[in-house]
Amino acid sequence: MIKNIVVVGSGVMGRGIAYVGALGGYAVTIVDINQHALANAEGEIDSIITKGLDRKKITQKVAEEVRNHLYYETDLKKAAKTADLVIEAVPEVADIKKEVFKTIDENAPSTCYFATNTSTMSPTEIASYCQRPERTIAMHFFNPVHKMPLVEIIRGLETSDETAEVIKNVAIQMGKETVVINEFPGFVTSRISALVGNEAFYMLQEGLGTPEEIDKAIKLGLNYPMGPFELVDLVGLDARLNNLKYLHEKLGEKYRPAPLLEQYVKAGRLGRKSGKGIYDYTDKKEQVKS
Ligand code: NAD
Repeated sequence: MIKNIVVVGSGVMGRGIAYVGALGGYAVTIVDINQHALANAEGEIDSIITKGLDRKKITQKVAEEVRNHLYYETDLKKAAKTADLVIEAVPEVADIKKEVFKTIDENAPSTCYFATNTSTMSPTEIASYCQRPERTIAMHFFNPVHKMPLVEIIRGLETSDETAEVIKNVAIQMGKETVVINEFPGFVTSRISALVGNEAFYMLQEGLGTPEEIDKAIKLGLNYPMGPFELVDLVGLDARLNNLKYLHEKLGEKYRPAPLLEQYVKAGRLGRKSGKGIYDYTDKKEQVKS
């Protein structure tokens, strides 16, 4: 029975996963190596709670329960010792994930399940970083986690039926819909999203239109709720670039990252989280600065 969840990484995704976990009644410890990121995550979660109260989506009692269910920690070894489930949400970089899985494998109880929130990487490969591949799976949440209804659950080669069932029930307890699929790089959602987003950068690079025009065309012409540039600013341009690099390596040429995307990342324009991506969020007017 899952009671204690450890979320590793308190960035855009980790803090959202921690919030829906606490909302689902789990005791959630958020772990990050960066104290500043942890403080930031606490502030962001508080803002989700405040907005939830203002919009009457949650009651005062639920808000209190969520706050009481959340713990913040920098020591992963300590946090892992009492975990029933660890959900990894560190950057999409194999070496970083490998280090995290090694640490949790050495410190978590043998009954603990491991999930990765990777957008693109192989859960079988990630499971090979630890000694319990049958208890390891991908649990792919979407951004912003508290609003997006889906969790894409991806089984690795050795993931057991029991693990898939347990993780599906955890996602449901967190208020989410699920699809359970077999692994292939990029799964369903990231493959499509990476292609559309990359193509938009090629269009911008070719001078086809402004980001606003391209976003408007996709939203009103294709009925997407967000334009590709609005979405990549939310996802993080660095996260998107890492996804594309991985898909390019695994699936070939059609995923080669657009040079303009690489240039934005080099310039530190990472999206909403850095204050500036395709659009500028520093004055909150979200003007285009390209
Ligand atoms: P992020 O860069 O916003 O946050 C990552 C956090 O991990 C940072 O706070 C960093 O300090 C922390 N971290 C780094 N190394 C660590 C370690 N060894 N131990 C503990 N914490 C560590 O990243 P993100 O956008 O939240 O992405 C996390 C994962 O979720 C990635 O695998 C990404 O592909 C996936 N994902 C992202 C999105 C999205 O929209 N951003 C959507 C779905 C899945």
